[in-house]
Amino acid sequence: MRTIAVLVAIIVLSVSWIGSRAESAADIAPGRIVDTSEHDYTYEEMLDDLEQLAVRYPDYIRWSVADTSLEGRGIPIVRLGRDDAPCHMMIQATMHAREHMSTHLVMVMIEGTAWKRMHGVSHEGLRIYDILDKIQLTVLPMVNPDGVEICQRGAEGCRLDETRRWVEEMAARGVSHRLIKSNARGVDLNRNFTNGHGRAFNAVRSKHFYHYPGHQPLTEPEVKAMMQTLIQRPYDLCLNYHTSGNIVYYGCGNAPDSVNSRARRMARVIGKRTRYPLYGPEVSERPNGSWADEVELNFGVPSATVELGSRNPVPQRELSGLLRRNGETWLDLILDIERSKGITVN
Ligand SMILES: [Zn+2]
Repeated sequence: MRTIAVLVAIIVLSVSWIGSRAESAADIAPGRIVDTSEHDYTYEEMLDDLEQLAVRYPDYIRWSVADTSLEGRGIPIVRLGRDDAPCHMMIQATMHAREHMSTHLVMVMIEGTAWKRMHGVSHEGLRIYDILDKIQLTVLPMVNPDGVEICQRGAEGCRLDETRRWVEEMAARGVSHRLIKSNARGVDLNRNFTNGHGRAFNAVRSKHFYHYPGHQPLTEPEVKAMMQTLIQRPYDLCLNYHTSGNIVYYGCGNAPDSVNSRARRMARVIGKRTRYPLYGPEVSERPNGSWADEVELNFGVPSATVELGSRNPVPQRELSGLLRRNGETWLDLILDIERSKGITVN
């Protein structure tokens, strides 16, 4: 009798454990592909995970190389869902090298989304399969792979002699490779776009680990990869992951009100879920050549930027908490995009 009671208790506990796991994108099924343990999530690991994800979810995930970085690394582009979906969202992470925790988070969220779709999980009373059927997610999970390799491995992470010499020079001047935001040419990718290029308050004048916008806009291969991706779909939202602050930026100072108000609406959806405070164009820095400034003004696409974590670089131990807070935001945003376009999910 006691054995039966223990068995029943184990079964009940197991079912509720599976149930609670299924509710969170942060912590999905046993046998998951993307390792959520505290570690530096590397470029090679990401490529390996993408291979495996595409095999496990062949009807939902596919990936290819958008373009190659300065040092010749492929910049992956991931498509979730069908090309002819009525809605589109573009997600990018890790334009800034030392912010590679964002790639880790995005990769876990890609897997969580696919897993929940396959396993019939629901969100807000609707089947996730049906919610995702109306949208394609286009994800650039690591825009700046050269910078990430430098950040994580120093001079050993460089493929080109010129890059290696530069990293060694910076080290000799006491600048740790762990601080790098730029790409392998010392250009801050998130300052290399056209709208307000070179106007950042903290811009530097030459090649540097951070804040050098380049001698003119759109010079960097990684930036060109983003622009190519941008023109391929009529995106309803560009969602961006950076670190740090646990806040959300949205909009752009010189973009039309109609675009900023859509961005505000999206930011509120994120804020409602994560409890992160919101900062709009009224209080943010003026346009300074960032990706958000580009997509809002020149393409009319609303932009929301989530700044993850308490400080830079984000301590590894914060990953699980970040996943808990952010894990459901894609589904919230997708539902809001679909509803705002009058698309019924049932
Ligand atoms: Zn950043």
